[in-house]
Amino acid sequence: MPSDKVLDRWKTAPVLLTGASGVIGVALAEELRRSGYDTVITTSSRDADLTDQREAARLLRSVRPSLVFHLAARVYGIMGNIKNKGQAYFDNVRINTNVVEAAREAGVEKIVAMGSTAIYSDIVPLPMSEKDIWLGPPHPSEAAYAHAKRGMLAHLEAYHSQYGLDFAFCISTNLFGPGDKFDEQFGHVIPSLISKFHRAVTEGSAVEVWGTGSPQRDFLYAKDAARAMRLVAEQYTGPINLATGIPVSIREAVETLREISRYRGEVLWDRSKPDGQKLRDYNIDTLRNLGFEPQYRFSEAMQETYDWYADAAGQVRR
Ligand code: GDP
Repeated sequence: MPSDKVLDRWKTAPVLLTGASGVIGVALAEELRRSGYDTVITTSSRDADLTDQREAARLLRSVRPSLVFHLAARVYGIMGNIKNKGQAYFDNVRINTNVVEAAREAGVEKIVAMGSTAIYSDIVPLPMSEKDIWLGPPHPSEAAYAHAKRGMLAHLEAYHSQYGLDFAFCISTNLFGPGDKFDEQFGHVIPSLISKFHRAVTEGSAVEVWGTGSPQRDFLYAKDAARAMRLVAEQYTGPINLATGIPVSIREAVETLREISRYRGEVLWDRSKPDGQKLRDYNIDTLRNLGFEPQYRFSEAMQETYDWYADAAGQVRR
């Protein structure tokens, strides 16, 4: 754990966020500024193409941060990950490798990197805990993406060992919130469903949901995730689960959205679409020990996100 002196330095030195235009980036920048971090530098793919090693090196050299939150990634939902396995693997390996190496070169003290619960195999005992990260292969639906994330963890562990570069690897569950990418085809389930329900009530279309509804996910609101990442940066080294510890079925998520949107029409279940991993349930004892408890109930976070979407519907990212 960094000393008070190190923490004070981090709060006055530049802190760099890659992938800052994404759902967690927006919430994290706000969380850090509110918590006394003076110079939060946000970057996105518009500022630097991190798949290019020279651009990554240039960015890190010009900002010279002490602390880096590495959030940038090629992210898809289940269908995007199934259909774009090559791109998910190659882009994420390049982005992560370039950022970690550029950070080492630029003398960064700590990287807090965005991992994913997709790294856990189906054979891991529930609730899944950090000690089982390397047990068994990831679920095939997201294996390419998951292996790229596992590779980043191996990279960070090696640099920690050889160069003393401090790190945390946030094994993040399904995140959602304002500013998300509301892509019905290749995006994640919550933003996709919000877009579908909103379209149904405004245009009178039916809502089509994928799979059987029985898979369970742990949905973490971006504002809670941002607080968790700050606590992790300030107190923890190594891989750590970032979740609520409360599994919710896809069916429950659909019912919650049906109430919030006041949609009275039909919900059609397309069982030809994949369910993906059946059960996701995470042990969050390590995160709780840092003083974290989610502050938002699922329905409350969904309401906020739906309202944000309804206000911004014309201008959201897709
Ligand atoms: P995952 O949690 O990593 O598997 O990825 P997603 O966020 O894409 O969630 C996938 C789960 O939600 C699967 O069980 C899907 O069958 C289910 N699902 C239901 N409707 C949708 C939808 O419209 N979009 C997506 N992405 N998933 C859906």
